[in-house]
Amino acid sequence: MSSTRRVDAVVVGAGFAGLYMLHKLRSEGFSAVVFEAGDDVGGTWYWNRYPGARCDVESMEYSYGFDEELEQTWEWTERYASQPEILRYANHVADRFDLRRDIQFQTRVTAATFTEASTTWRVRTDRGHDVVGQFLVMATGCLSSANTPEISGAATFAGSSFHTGTWPHEGVDFTGQRVGVIGTGSSAIQSIPIIAEQARELTVFQRTASFAVPAWNQALDPRAVKELKAEYQTFRAEQRQTATGFGSRIKGGDGSALDAAPDELSRELQRRWDYGGLSFLGAYNDLLIDNQANDLAAHFVRAKLREIVNDPAVADKLAPTQVIGCKRLCVDTGYWATFNRPNVHLVDLQDDPIEAITPAGIRTTTGEHPLEAIVYATGFDAMTGALLRIDITGRGGLSLQEAWAAGPRTYLGLGVAGFPNLFTITGPGSPSVLTNMLVSIQHHVEWIADCIGHLRQNHLAAIEATEPAQEAWVDYVNTVASFTLFPTCNSWYLGANVPGKTRVFMPLPGFPPYAEHCAHVARSGYEGFALTTP
Ligand code: NAP
Repeated sequence: MSSTRRVDAVVVGAGFAGLYMLHKLRSEGFSAVVFEAGDDVGGTWYWNRYPGARCDVESMEYSYGFDEELEQTWEWTERYASQPEILRYANHVADRFDLRRDIQFQTRVTAATFTEASTTWRVRTDRGHDVVGQFLVMATGCLSSANTPEISGAATFAGSSFHTGTWPHEGVDFTGQRVGVIGTGSSAIQSIPIIAEQARELTVFQRTASFAVPAWNQALDPRAVKELKAEYQTFRAEQRQTATGFGSRIKGGDGSALDAAPDELSRELQRRWDYGGLSFLGAYNDLLIDNQANDLAAHFVRAKLREIVNDPAVADKLAPTQVIGCKRLCVDTGYWATFNRPNVHLVDLQDDPIEAITPAGIRTTTGEHPLEAIVYATGFDAMTGALLRIDITGRGGLSLQEAWAAGPRTYLGLGVAGFPNLFTITGPGSPSVLTNMLVSIQHHVEWIADCIGHLRQNHLAAIEATEPAQEAWVDYVNTVASFTLFPTCNSWYLGANVPGKTRVFMPLPGFPPYAEHCAHVARSGYEGFALTTP
């Protein structure tokens, strides 16, 4: 089909970022169209339907705060919402604000080209759309481009293969099967305990052992929910004052782990362990900054692992050696205990690497592991993958692939020099994946809408990050990251999980100073951006 629609803005993606962007644009009087590859809304939560998929940020925090009626009427049922419930929430939002009429589903944007004469973007899709918009907003998600490693012989496998990030909607029944899971990140750690209950035999192929803290998920207490809803906006404001956009109500965390007496340290870490979830890393202010401090927390978690796993040899293999929190900390429900089951086996790929996938299973150096199903829990080409698979061409014929050949370069994670009127929601160079995504998404959507409103009010045609501002921003992000322990391991934050991807630390740690800086940029008339008249 073809379309020659002209709109103020083209939005790519109908996950939480795209949905709110569309709503915000429309409510400010702009016309917009959203293109979405999936059949329906939800983004990450539409695609990631693997068994046990659940958010690792608490449900009362992982929700939009822009509409009082929405936040008051929606009822979460569990402390950590499951994927089906989050997807129902995304659908509820789409219905409530009548968003679907401007979303073109089952449509992938293939190319976007900036036309200098008209300062507009021409967007093409795999279904023949040809749409022109003044603005192009990339709401493509940070973890939406699945990473499937190229393992020799993979295509010859006679059984079924799945990727956690593109899970079949009808579900998968592993009953009676021998299943192999490749990977031990968050997706694997959530799905392994459930697959283990179904499968005849489960073999986990681990390249890097992961740290995990318990979720202690449970039904929400209606009284606590009512109390929080009575002051929801205060709560949201508190979230924005935390480095990560969540966990504001958990007391403590201001001191150094190195100053704590040993019994005080273990009490505090135990308190965080008993509380559950990602706030474990907030126990002290230097856990992600100082190696020695980090080691205290890592040691505590490794000791927990050894208490949980019965076989010391298996516990040794499961014990992570990197800095805790360097790779995204996993939040689990019974992950390590799963290795006490007789039908669960661990292959440590450090000692026994995969040689090939065969028709019958996975062959490592010590022999073949016969399998009927392989689950690739191998993550994503994070933050840049979804942007770079679209052929985006900016000013002077410069492609985004060329501009980012040495890694992503942005100003504020919102704009890119050479690409006027293009915005990246939670783009590289912004706090993004180091925060509660809903907080960062809401912040970016509102900043972008204000910016577009400013252009309209002042009869301006285009906004573009300047090279010097972008240069300085990239340096700033690298400098902040270098003060942390984040760059010390091969994480997807660095792009290290994708062979050949340039190693650059992509997100910016620390939400409040970032948000303050973005506000300052807007107040100063968009310092660091060039604004042009028609
Ligand atoms: P991930 O964290 O990148 O984990 C991928 C796993 O696959 C890692 O263990 C990785 O090992 C392994 N792997 C990759 N390529 C491999 C290869 N060629 N051979 C063997 N192993 C290989 O991906 P994910 O688990 O999908 O999670 C990604 C992110 O999504 C998370 O960090 C989190 O931010 C988000 N997420 C959140 C939730 C939640 O809210 N609870 C759930 C799932 C995902 P290496 O470590 O050695 O690279």
